[in-house]
Amino acid sequence: MMSQPLFEKVAFIGLGLIGSSLARVMIAENLAKQIVASTRSQKTLDDAKALGLIQAGYSNPVDAVQGADLVVLALPVRATQKVLQTIKPYLSDSTIITDVGSTKGNVVDAAKAVYGEQLPSGFVPGHPIAGAEHTGVHAGKVDLFANHKVILTPLPSSGDWAVQKLIQLWQAAKAEVICMDVEKHDEVLAHTSHLPHLMAFNLVEQLANREDNLDIFRYAAGGFRDFSRIAASDPQMWHDIFFANKKAILNAVDGFEHQLAQIRKLIEDEDSQALMGLLGHAQAARQHFNHMLAKRPLMEKNKVTTQQFTILPGKKNFQGKFTVPGDKSVSHRSIMFGAIAEGTTHVTGFLEGEDALATLQAFRDMGVSIEGPKNGEVTIHGVGINGLKAPKSALYMGNSGTSMRLLSGMLSAQQFDSVMTGDASLSKRPMERIAKPLREMGAQIQTTGERGTPPVSITGSQNLQGIHYDLPMASAQVKSGILLAGLWANGETSVTEPEPTRDHTERMLRAFGYKVKTEGNRISLQGGGKLVGTEIQVPSDISSAAFFMVGAAITEGSDVTLEAVGINPTRTGVIEILKQMGADLTVENERIAGGEPIADIRIRGTRTLKGIHMPEDQVPLAIDEFPALFIAAACAEGQTILTGAAELRVKESDRIQVMADGLKTMGIDCTPTEDGIIIEGKGKAGDWSAIFTGGEIESHHDHRIAMSFSMAGLRSSGVIKIVGTETVATSFPTFTELANQAGLPIQVSE
Ligand code: NAP
Repeated sequence: MMSQPLFEKVAFIGLGLIGSSLARVMIAENLAKQIVASTRSQKTLDDAKALGLIQAGYSNPVDAVQGADLVVLALPVRATQKVLQTIKPYLSDSTIITDVGSTKGNVVDAAKAVYGEQLPSGFVPGHPIAGAEHTGVHAGKVDLFANHKVILTPLPSSGDWAVQKLIQLWQAAKAEVICMDVEKHDEVLAHTSHLPHLMAFNLVEQLANREDNLDIFRYAAGGFRDFSRIAASDPQMWHDIFFANKKAILNAVDGFEHQLAQIRKLIEDEDSQALMGLLGHAQAARQHFNHMLAKRPLMEKNKVTTQQFTILPGKKNFQGKFTVPGDKSVSHRSIMFGAIAEGTTHVTGFLEGEDALATLQAFRDMGVSIEGPKNGEVTIHGVGINGLKAPKSALYMGNSGTSMRLLSGMLSAQQFDSVMTGDASLSKRPMERIAKPLREMGAQIQTTGERGTPPVSITGSQNLQGIHYDLPMASAQVKSGILLAGLWANGETSVTEPEPTRDHTERMLRAFGYKVKTEGNRISLQGGGKLVGTEIQVPSDISSAAFFMVGAAITEGSDVTLEAVGINPTRTGVIEILKQMGADLTVENERIAGGEPIADIRIRGTRTLKGIHMPEDQVPLAIDEFPALFIAAACAEGQTILTGAAELRVKESDRIQVMADGLKTMGIDCTPTEDGIIIEGKGKAGDWSAIFTGGEIESHHDHRIAMSFSMAGLRSSGVIKIVGTETVATSFPTFTELANQAGLPIQVSE
């Protein structure tokens, strides 16, 4: 609540749903010393007084506005001109005049008709994007605008002093304030609000005119109810809006007719692939944008409430065969290469996480028809190496650095221009490291953020030259981005890496029939070839499998098999380290899928692990698995020492410190060092009793910390509570479900 009111005297002209909701906010937040109103009917004024919303009510707006420092026009937009004409002589230069109308162009026209081109600097039109089907002074609610958007459309004549005060006002109503120009407002609203209302009224009208209308409405299912809900809105208001925003609405209707004709034709022609493409694209777009839009409130919510895992003590069996989610790096590439291949690519085991879904959406936006994902299955109808189409707007890469860096290479070689954007965290990540070599190839690419960061803006060009590039840093993403641009470049493109990095791109290109040479640390390919659609089985992610591997290794009598896990040699450090610690671990059924080696990994709890000095050459190959390995080390006999792993301090959390804090909470003696940790294992050969004391662990919203400490629940004498576990769902959505099935019950609570 404000200690000093923002306004001396506020005059509402019109006090229905919107006006009275704002008046309620002003009272609750102490925003005005005095509130008065003018409406058409005396009854509204009497009711408003009885509700305690206004101190005085007038039938003539002139009486209301005298001495007011804020005038809010909260009436139908068609009445704007007449009201402004009437009150104009009674307003001072310091009066702020705003409105809440659903259209803005005609409100500005009304003001110009009254004032001429020189509008007062206190005049700032606005539009709260919040409402309800009911109208009138009794329908108002104090929280109507909370968590909704309010659009202000300041004019060149509007004073900043007035805009700032209105921003403060709407923020006090807990709304998110956006400033936009008038034309943009009317165009956006025509598509997102006015067209849907028009369609809802029209559909109900179409059905109501049928002879069997009674039956139709009687049997109408939930879909009809959802779709037609907004046709219950005030006809007069919508009549006014349709006229007031005529030009933009007619444009939106034209677009709708065009789209309707397109889908009609696909059904008429029984064009199954194109219809699936259209429906799939629409469904995915809705999920994608819903997700993006839902994200911020979710994150804000997470500040106050976080998810928590609780694991009760007691001896547990840990058994079963499991398939953990697919590998992220491979999921991304399956979409990218499937899209530019000739023919169809069928993907199984696709990781339906946010990052890979951003890649999928980007290719849909470039005209590729993609079915799914459904239970990890995706079918991509490849458009061939030259078949991508210009996206209609910027490609949104969410949090995914892989998508942005790999696509930088691909997009640099297209005929069309493109822009890639990302979320706040991706927008801070360096993109020059990929832009620089691409420029050497002739690409016109700019990192338009500060300090070489996104957005990335690319001008289409089809004349790239193959180059040789010595990578200054070990980065699989930069290597891949260059090689992918090389698919379209003249001659040979090659990259030398300082040390081996993940080679998923090379392997998968070969699986798509593209020749890639690897000679030592030098990788090369010739431009101008083609990719052929194929079957891709995305291997299960070894990083996710690692939690279950450690769980089984520390639990007596356990027998767990993790199926079809990717065992790309650049990723298998965790297997090597667990074996060195003495785990009973076998790699079975080795095979190749989509160019990647995969195998089933079986781990049994038959012997106590031993502490070791972790081999430094394995550190880069197991970097994501150390939190889980620390749990194994705590259960081992003797000391475990990790060195050469400073990288762990700059992951999603400082994984050395956060793990050390948690281990200490649970009774484990350990010493974090600059580049590693020393853990005094409490295990004794042949003794399978509890190792951990239980306790409350702060995961710092780091999914791998949360999952690692969950495994400690297999050897704990006390209750383990892990706070901040909501991030687990983004990398391993089935984690608690699989842990439960294996015999480790995890209670999830908010
Ligand atoms: P409402 O509940 O029907 O209230 C309208 C108010 O304006 C009433 O107090 C009415 O007086 C007064 N009024 C009507 N015609 C008038 C005239 N010619 N001269 C003086 N006063 C007049 O409507 P609302 O939903 O609050 O809508 C107000 C504005 O907000 C509209 O411009 C609308 O486009 C915009 N808006 C509405 C929504 C929504 O969902 N409803 C959402 C966003 C924006 P009486 O009480 O005496 O009839």
